[in-house]
Amino acid sequence: MINRDRIVRTFLDLVAIESPSGAEEAVAAELEHRLRALGVDAGRDAHGNVLGRLGGEGDAILLSAHMDTVEPGRGIKPVFDGADIIRADGSTILGADNKAGCAVILEVIESIQEDGGAHRTIEVALSRGEEVGLMGARNMDYGRISAKVALVIDSGGPPASIQGQAPFHHTYDVEVFGRSAHAGLEPEKGVPAITIAAEIVAGLPQGRFDAGTTGNVGRIQGGLVRNAVPDYCRIEGEMRSMDEGAVEALQGRAEAHVEAVRLRHAEARIEAEFRREYPGYQLTEDDPAAKLLYGVLREFGMEPDPHPVGGGTDGNIFRGHGIASIVFGRGGYNQHTRDEYLVIPELLDCARVVERAVRKPAG
Ligand SMILES: [Zn+2]
Repeated sequence: MINRDRIVRTFLDLVAIESPSGAEEAVAAELEHRLRALGVDAGRDAHGNVLGRLGGEGDAILLSAHMDTVEPGRGIKPVFDGADIIRADGSTILGADNKAGCAVILEVIESIQEDGGAHRTIEVALSRGEEVGLMGARNMDYGRISAKVALVIDSGGPPASIQGQAPFHHTYDVEVFGRSAHAGLEPEKGVPAITIAAEIVAGLPQGRFDAGTTGNVGRIQGGLVRNAVPDYCRIEGEMRSMDEGAVEALQGRAEAHVEAVRLRHAEARIEAEFRREYPGYQLTEDDPAAKLLYGVLREFGMEPDPHPVGGGTDGNIFRGHGIASIVFGRGGYNQHTRDEYLVIPELLDCARVVERAVRKPAG
């Protein structure tokens, strides 16, 4: 049975191990050790993600959470009111995002191992670097994952709070290669990369285009010194939309604009790279992951509450690899702030829901 004291202790233990993005080694070792102690065949992939498998009946189901936390996330001193709330002391984040997700996965497996009885084959993916661009999920060894359905335990609020819609995310880099020259002696011999980049920036999609479609130029970098015509400038930007057609149209406009500037400036070399970072999705009731989770939530008397979100999670990357994924709440609030807190009854609800889901026969 899901055990309140045990999951709280696990959570506090995990929070005590610092794991800001890029420095997840200690917590990864601890999680790998704990999974093995629970009988899970666990190890690390080449990127350092913790992957595990516990044999059971039927097709595998993937349970996933990320191991890293945002800053300020060092020296976290959780404050437990002894009742239902664990919060940070105000000097750091709490790290319930996403140590709470990791604790849920450990508790579910421990509960299943202690009670016995049928369950699906469980695969576990604990990722690194989720908070800095989904790096762990991007570099995960998918050869070791057979599941076609994933429960991604990584959202705020109660388990019925579901990320029902997430945007398609496209990014780009544009590089302008000009020619440097002394700015005072012979500027006419130069090809000013920054000036050409400015023409490009001026026509790139920025701001909001409709309720679900946005664009941004987030970074430019170029030039070395005040008194030289700059020979290089780099532009980094992004576009997001809930609608695949809209983000592709936006990218098409951006590419056409870069091409127009390129034609005007044959003296410069302009290189542009546009890419899809991850696909968006809109959950429907017949999506395999939604079907499973919605059914379990309703068994517990909780009505699924899907809502749109503005960013991606590991779930978007998993979907790009053909794994139907649903991202839902594990009791955290005010994530990424010093006011972050965790509501223990909702954490327990999440664990009960996940346990029920892995005990349901596949199909
Ligand atoms: Zn998270």
